[in-house]
Amino acid sequence: MSTMTSEQIMSQAEKLCLQRGVRLTTQRAEVLRLMAELPGSISAYDLLDQLRVSEPQAKPPTVYRALDFLLEQGFIHRVESNNSYVMCHHFDAPAHTSVMLVCDRCAAVIEKHAQGVENIIGSLATDAHFALRHSVIEAHGLCEKCVAVEACTHHESCEHDHQVDVKKRGKKG
Ligand SMILES: [Zn+2]
Ligand SMILES: [Zn+2]
Ligand SMILES: [Zn+2]
Repeated sequence: MSTMTSEQIMSQAEKLCLQRGVRLTTQRAEVLRLMAELPGSISAYDLLDQLRVSEPQAKPPTVYRALDFLLEQGFIHRVESNNSYVMCHHFDAPAHTSVMLVCDRCAAVIEKHAQGVENIIGSLATDAHFALRHSVIEAHGLCEKCVAVEACTHHESCEHDHQVDVKKRGKKG
């Protein structure tokens, strides 16, 4: 499926909320709109900063409550490995399996609908009599842009920011 524009995302989300009988409040809609306009993932903290532009009184719980709602509705995904959130571009297919390609340098996240993987996970779940709801696979590496920066050898004459360090695979906990 092709990527939806932020207007398409908003109208699709409004339609689904109406169908499901849940309320897309102003704050929930505003958080979704902010995320829909972002190319990659965002942390709850950065999202709060952006939300404060239109809602100066917004507090961390405001953002977390809105994110919980959007996760529940399947409009967004949580990227566990870098503790951020990303817009889902297939949210009309709530049971889809996504592969998140997470860039360790700039935190860009590319979501790919993993059809083959979906079939495998589906049959594994069936074997285990497991009622599958949602699965996300996260893969780490460098995005196209960052591959180019990493490959650059003329640091004095280029326009890249070579100060950014590629995150080492995190220690858990
Ligand atoms: Zn998705
Ligand atoms: Zn990158
Ligand atoms: Zn360079």
